Formats: sequence, structure tokens, C-alpha cells
Amino acid sequence: MLPTRLCVACRSKKEQKDLIRLTYDYRNGEVTLHTGDKHLSGRSCYICRNKTCVDQALKGTRIKGALDGRKVKGRPNTRSVRFPLEPQLIQLVYRECTDTGKTCQNTLSKE
Ligand SMILES: [Zn+2]
Repeated sequence: MLPTRLCVACRSKKEQKDLIRLTYDYRNGEVTLHTGDKHLSGRSCYICRNKTCVDQALKGTRIKGALDGRKVKGRPNTRSVRFPLEPQLIQLVYRECTDTGKTCQNTLSKE
């Protein structure tokens, strides 16, 4: 059986390849889009490759919550994800959507 991951927006389980993966690197505090076999260490969260889920995930603090991880009681939270995410990163995430809907690829399909 292939490993499945949970979308942070709709909470459905999908194969990893069907999800956009974001990884939070503890060392530099950067959130990165995890593509191909780029090797990144850190905490990851997953979003379906569709605009609805990406919208939802970016709107709330779900991504932050998922990447921050559990807070340790009595200890300052040293790993704090910068939020909202960088506009460039958000753009990259939208580019990963395969279900493009209305806005994702409008600019591309207009000749
Ligand atoms: Zn989803």
C-alpha cells in the first residue's frame, strides 16, 4: 500500500504524489514548496492539488498549525512559522494545482 497523507484543508487522505507538500525547515525558519526529489528536512504538511483546498489552507492558520507542531508546555515556542506565507511561495503553490478552476491559469490560457 502506498503511503497516504492528510490534506490540511479538507482532511481527506491521498497519496503523497497527489498532494502539494510544504516543508518547514527548522534550521532557517523557511517554508518551502517540496517538489521532486529535493531533499529537505523538517516538518511537512500537505494540500490537495486543487484551488479550493489551497484557498482554504492559506486562508486560515491550518498550515501554520500543521507546521508549528505541538507546543511544548513550559517552554518558549522556538519554532514559529512565519505567517502569512511569502507571496512568491503562495504563487508557487497555486502553480502546483492540477485542478485549475477559474483563477489559477487564467493568465496562461489567455493566449
Ligand atoms: Zn484537500
